[in-house]
Amino acid sequence: MTQMSNQTQTITGIVIKEIKTKESDKIITVLSKELGVINIYVKGAMRLKNKFHSATGLFTYSEFVIFRSRSSDLYQLNEASVKHIFHALSTNVEYLALAMYMSELVCEVSVPNDMNNEILRLYLNILHMLTTGKWSVLLCKAAFEMRLMCDTGFRPALLGCKACGEYEKDMFFMDVVNGDIICPTCMKAHQTDRMIMEKPAMLAMRYFAYADLDKMFSFTVNDFFARHLALVRENYVLRHTKPEYKTLQFFKSVQSQEI
Ligand SMILES: [Zn+2]
Repeated sequence: MTQMSNQTQTITGIVIKEIKTKESDKIITVLSKELGVINIYVKGAMRLKNKFHSATGLFTYSEFVIFRSRSSDLYQLNEASVKHIFHALSTNVEYLALAMYMSELVCEVSVPNDMNNEILRLYLNILHMLTTGKWSVLLCKAAFEMRLMCDTGFRPALLGCKACGEYEKDMFFMDVVNGDIICPTCMKAHQTDRMIMEKPAMLAMRYFAYADLDKMFSFTVNDFFARHLALVRENYVLRHTKPEYKTLQFFKSVQSQEI
C-alpha cells in the first residue's frame, strides 16, 4: 500500500509530450481533465521494467497520482495506471505525425482551466476518429484546429457576411487575419487575400465551431472539401498562434496525400 500524503491528487489525462532527462528519467507533459496542461517528473520511466513505463508512454491515456514538491514547478509521480492506449498510432506514421502536431498546438495555445475537460475530450475524440479511420486524417486535423482555436479564444465570426449579415450563400470568402467571412456580393475587388469557402466547407466549419462536442463527430464531409478546409484552418492557426510548427513540417513530410 502506498502511503498517501495530503498533497497527493488523482488526475486523468493523456501524455502529449515526453522529454528524456538525465539517465533514465523523463518529464512528461499531460493534458489533464483536472489541471489542464501540466508537467510531471517521472523517475526511472525509461527503464522497461519500470512500473510506470507504459502508463507514462507518449499518447497513453492514464490515471496519475501526483504531488507537488515545494521547490519545483514540476509535479512528481506516485502512481500511474493505463486507461487506454491508441495502438494504431505506433503503426501509422501519418497518424503519429498528426498527434504530435496536435500536441504542439495544445502546448502553444493557453488552455483555460474551466475548459480543460472540453479540450481533453476533443483531443481524445479526434484520436479515436483518426485511429479507427472514421474520419480522414485531414478532416481530423481541420476539425481539431478549428475547435481548439474556438475553445481557446480565437473563434472566428462565421454566422454571416461581415457587411450584409447574409447567412445562406453558395460561397463565402474568409479573412483568416480578422476571422470573418464576406459574401460574393459584398466582396470588393481589392480583397484578394481572402480564401474561398464553398458551401460544404462553410457548413463543416460552422459545425465544428458551434456544435456540441458530442454531436460534432456525427458530421462528415467529403475528401475534396476536407482538404480545402484543412488548408483554411491551417492558415488560420498559423496566423493566430505562431508561423511555424516543427511537427507540422514533419506531418507534411509523411503525408500520403498532397493538399
Ligand atoms: Zn454580404
